[in-house]
Amino acid sequence: MRLVIASNNAHKIREIREMLGGMFDEVISMAEAGIDLDVVEDGTTFMENALKKAHEVHALLPDDAVLSDDSGLSVDALGGAPGVYSARFALDGHDDSANRQKLLRELRGVPDNERSARFECAMVLCRKGVKDIVCLGKVEGRILFEERGENGFGYDSLFYYEPAKLSFAEMTAEAKNHISHRHMALQGVLDELAKEGGAS
Ligand code: IMP
Repeated sequence: MRLVIASNNAHKIREIREMLGGMFDEVISMAEAGIDLDVVEDGTTFMENALKKAHEVHALLPDDAVLSDDSGLSVDALGGAPGVYSARFALDGHDDSANRQKLLRELRGVPDNERSARFECAMVLCRKGVKDIVCLGKVEGRILFEERGENGFGYDSLFYYEPAKLSFAEMTAEAKNHISHRHMALQGVLDELAKEGGAS
């Protein structure tokens, strides 16, 4: 069976291919499958958005397996925001730097012990005739008072990961990918597939 990833993000596709490649005949992006679809992410949870993406793509490719994910940052002091709005928090399109500045502004005056946050990732594997595999991955951390580190993307430079005593942007890609919310969710999908004895 072919696995189509409901994304065209090269980094995600590489990571997923490395982890699930052995379970499928082929792992390809949406573009490689000839699909040009902009799914409106209007769910109120990461899982709702991931399910919507997986089902819309699977409706176009019913004979393929489809894997989708949705992720973001939830900050306790902001009642879980930016959450599903993580990519467009600053309201002027997808601008990582503007999003980080807005997060710092919103947390001005909030002390260190109240800056707990987590990255979350919902992942869905949709196949014909079988129940969807749905997995959630989470990684806990704290929002820093200023940016630290040059690696990564999104909110990485503001996310302090206590076990490493580094921000995500100070960690190497390998180290971060090993403990990330996406990796945890993907590992959950891999475990479920392994229980079935492989997918193809
Ligand atoms: P998406 O689900 O990959 O589209 O991610 C949505 C948004 O969440 C991104 O635009 C980032 O702002 C944020 N985000 C998700 N995962 C990460 C991460 O690993 N590091 C930093 N930001 C992230």
